[in-house]
Amino acid sequence: MNTVTEKIYQHVCQLDPDQKEFQQAVYTFLLSMDKVIDELPEVTYHKVIERMVEPERVVMFRVPWIDDEGRLQINRGFRVQQSSAIGPYKGGLRFHPSVNLSIIKFLAFEQVFKNSLTGLPMGGGKGGSDFNPKGRSDAEVMRFCQSFMTELYRHIGPDTDVPAGDIGVGGREIGFLYGQYKRITNSFTGVLTGKGQTFGGSLIRPEATGYGLVYLCDEILRNEGRKLEGATCLVSGSGNVAQYTVEKLNALGAKVVTLSDSSGMIYDEEGISPEKLAYVMQLKNVKRGRIREYADKYKGVTYIPRTGNGANPLWDIKADYAFPCATQNEINLEDAGNLVKNGIKLVGEGANMPCVAEAEKLFLDKGVLLAPAKAANAGGVAVSGLEMSQNSMRLHWTREEVDEKLRSIMKGIYTNISEAADKYSEHNNFVDGANIAGFLKVANAMIAQGYV
Ligand code: NDP
Repeated sequence: MNTVTEKIYQHVCQLDPDQKEFQQAVYTFLLSMDKVIDELPEVTYHKVIERMVEPERVVMFRVPWIDDEGRLQINRGFRVQQSSAIGPYKGGLRFHPSVNLSIIKFLAFEQVFKNSLTGLPMGGGKGGSDFNPKGRSDAEVMRFCQSFMTELYRHIGPDTDVPAGDIGVGGREIGFLYGQYKRITNSFTGVLTGKGQTFGGSLIRPEATGYGLVYLCDEILRNEGRKLEGATCLVSGSGNVAQYTVEKLNALGAKVVTLSDSSGMIYDEEGISPEKLAYVMQLKNVKRGRIREYADKYKGVTYIPRTGNGANPLWDIKADYAFPCATQNEINLEDAGNLVKNGIKLVGEGANMPCVAEAEKLFLDKGVLLAPAKAANAGGVAVSGLEMSQNSMRLHWTREEVDEKLRSIMKGIYTNISEAADKYSEHNNFVDGANIAGFLKVANAMIAQGYV
């Protein structure tokens, strides 16, 4: 790092020494800033980066709710409103026991640049709770969501802040949250995205992150004379992003041989066909079961339980392309070494910050094509932006229309990040390309708006 970025990083670490995930997100971003900062004296003069690493607003609140046994439960809620420079705050809500301020701040920070890359007018934010929906009844989830929204509603609005889903927040949770917002405010507005089809949701929103990931990677591969057709792929996770990544990879002729959850992974050498994927969707989205059950149902499938934090066997299977779609830091340096050893050609980040910084560096050093999350999983928020447009215009676009717009946004992102990589960094360094392209638009808006 140069002296300016090093100083910013040290300040961030001093202010919040325990926020390791946030520090990691800032660190990898600052490495890219080193490549442009000398060419942009106005950025240093106006302290743009120093302002960007400080959220505009952080809200933390108590979420009391009653479980099915009549006992009072208390969780912690968060909303980090990171930047409104180019539009209302926009970003998902995560319900998972690991959620804390550091994780929400890292997600909100990355969201700013991701949203900028989509070309749509959206600022960045993120929120959530340490509530664990796993094992809870629908009634408990509803009571939790209602209590969460009873506080959150005063901080959001269709022109202020528009939350969406993330880990642990799918269609069911968005429905409960929306119902409570509507009830408290007596207004039917586009205050959340990812809504159901009958109350303002956009077609293709559930599919958008996974589809967008595959569209972007397809673009990258084709520009390198490679293709998805006939390729063997590794996918981790088995939630929303993983499911639609598999669906689109299948549609484009690739074979996916793995899926996982926090308990373990399955390896299906024959490939997860559309029929098997339909089973996974039923298992995870309706039955809320575990991926282990896939190996009970289909012959010749290996299930490997997750043990400790060492190397993940999923990343030690020989394949052409890898798509981490579960959670942050799921690929450590050892995993990255295994992928490189087995000749992986591309890593497409469906999850946010799935690679530790050293793993990202190894991929870049070894010439592995790395599609970073800020660009690669931007399809979800892009279609959320399209949902906001449809809500404002009181319109409903067809599946084909939304899919076409998504495809064209992902193509635009590819052009944007590859041009920024060529101009400021090196050919195919999409990490720098995404950070720099996403940053420039927000930085210009911040400078134009004065010191706010
Ligand atoms: P889901 O809740 O639908 O699925 C998450 C999956 O990841 C599950 O299989 C879950 O397993 C697994 N997982 C979660 N936490 C851990 C953990 N600590 N260790 C191991 N496995 C874990 O979430 P999404 O698919 O929506 O999100 C996945 C990733 O994609 C996240 O990083 C999210 O931020 C990112 N993302 C999502 C977008 C969206 O539109 N949904 C948009 C952009 C990014 P288990 O069931 O055992 O918990």
